Amino acid sequence: MSFILSGIGVSRGIVIGKAHVLQQDALEVREQHIAIEDVDQEIRRYQQAVDVASRQLSAIRDQIPEATRKDIVEFIDTHLLMLQDSSLVHVPAQSIREQQCNAEWALKLQQEALAAVFDEMDDPYLRTRKDDVNHVIHRILRILISGAQDQGSVGFDLAGTIVFASDLTPSDTVLLHHQGVAAFVTEFGGPLSHTAILARSLGIPAIVGAHSARRYIQDNETIILDGEQGLILAGADAGLLSHYRRLQDAESDRRENLELLKGTAAITRDGVRVQLLSNIELPQDMERTLAVGAEGIGLYRTEFLFMNRPDIPSEEEQLEQYRSVIQAMEGLPVTIRTLDLGADKKVDSGPLPERSSSNPALGLRAIRLCLKDLDLFRPQLRAILRASAAGPTRIMIPMLSNLQELNQVLSLLEETKEQLRAEGHAFDPHLPIGGMIEIPAAALTAPCFAAKLDFMSIGTNDLIQYTLAIDRIDDEVAYLYDPLHPAVLRLIQLIIQAGQAADIPVSMCGEMAGDPRFTRLLLGMGLTQFSMYPSSILEVKDCITRCSKREAQQQVESIIACNDLQEIHGRLDSLNQDDKRCR
Ligand code: PEP
Ligand code: MG
Repeated sequence: MSFILSGIGVSRGIVIGKAHVLQQDALEVREQHIAIEDVDQEIRRYQQAVDVASRQLSAIRDQIPEATRKDIVEFIDTHLLMLQDSSLVHVPAQSIREQQCNAEWALKLQQEALAAVFDEMDDPYLRTRKDDVNHVIHRILRILISGAQDQGSVGFDLAGTIVFASDLTPSDTVLLHHQGVAAFVTEFGGPLSHTAILARSLGIPAIVGAHSARRYIQDNETIILDGEQGLILAGADAGLLSHYRRLQDAESDRRENLELLKGTAAITRDGVRVQLLSNIELPQDMERTLAVGAEGIGLYRTEFLFMNRPDIPSEEEQLEQYRSVIQAMEGLPVTIRTLDLGADKKVDSGPLPERSSSNPALGLRAIRLCLKDLDLFRPQLRAILRASAAGPTRIMIPMLSNLQELNQVLSLLEETKEQLRAEGHAFDPHLPIGGMIEIPAAALTAPCFAAKLDFMSIGTNDLIQYTLAIDRIDDEVAYLYDPLHPAVLRLIQLIIQAGQAADIPVSMCGEMAGDPRFTRLLLGMGLTQFSMYPSSILEVKDCITRCSKREAQQQVESIIACNDLQEIHGRLDSLNQDDKRCR
């Protein structure tokens, strides 16, 4: 039977492949007493499940490519070590024998006992290890419950598959990418979540917010996924399959044509030079950045270096990573953003607050977290400054909401420079300091920030979230997430004008900058620096070369003055009218 499901298409591309359905929901544990004569057999069943879990993890570890960061491997190693620990190997076996309970129940009892021990700990870092223990126990439980052998569990044979999950964290997405998934679908999550951003950045076609998809999709069935339209087609007949294969061919032709723009400059028809920069999450993204000829890095999201690992990267490790990116850019500027952890960007190691906030996007996130935890922030400032000796580097502060925060960062930077000087470390004493303007309060007071900063970058993902009061990761309100809302456009305009008045560069690094539908509008508003995930660069360049800034400017004023959302959309359509590729 064929059917179509829909969700929010967040990363373009058509994939035809086999479904792999991840069942991550809470597992129901059967609690049963067993007969004394069955005890040995039950202990063997438990031990076999632990062995299978170890083999699964070792296989995942072996699938991680050589070039991959060693921290991912270390993260898996930690879990492998837990599987050898007496608390997971012997204690449940002992409970099976002494209490004559089934293996699942014995493991559940041990999970509760371990949780109580972790909860007693004073050290917040050690307390967070509870999550690791739970992950490992969850894996063993899944094997016990499903009777799975080596195959079929999370992390296996994912290469080339379309993964269906309830939800994925950004760190899960990195792992899936390493395992070579072809595409993914989640039942929850919004188009501006970091998971969606990462999918675009890694070039993995993806759909989010496809409610209940896992109820209808069978493991291993052939699926067509259209990441642009947000469509999932199951049970397609030969005609439909060949239609989508033709679309795949057309897409690769389009990409090939765009490749021709690689070596050319982004100049509008009326001669305005635009700078196209790349957003990266990890040094591995450099390959794509260089392949499309980006003119620098406009946003390096350093928090990704802190994910999928049990520890916090040291100053030296950070230095090595930042320096490798700066060297790879061979003299082009690299904008390193200081840690923006919190909200949907979670890590396995300690820095995030223990108590989960009921409004994490409004909580201890980004610069707020760094200023509270200087042991976390100082090594990063040192690493960025030291890396700046390797080539043109800029530092950028996320989520500034008031000038006090900026002043604190500026004095910490001065202090750090003094220390580095005293220690004889080289760095760029004139390292440009920029701020992300992504909170409405900062946008409204942009001239004050512009007076103290060397550059500003507009973070539209958060600016829209906070202006319109829409959680960017909540698919239920994704329909309200509109970059064309007049309030958003006016804030963007304020920031650009504040930069022009203070004579400092203003770029945009939110997703709006990489969407060709908005290129003319932004050019008309006076933006000349756009930073985006690498695979969008050539497309936006294509749009720039075919438009005139002067013409765009004339129409933009009326768009910004307009209060009606529908009318704004209509006017944008007519601005883009002569060019199908920008619609
Ligand atoms: C933004 O908010 O627009 C931005 C670029 O930062 P992030 O998506 O990492 O929050
Ligand atoms: Mg942001």
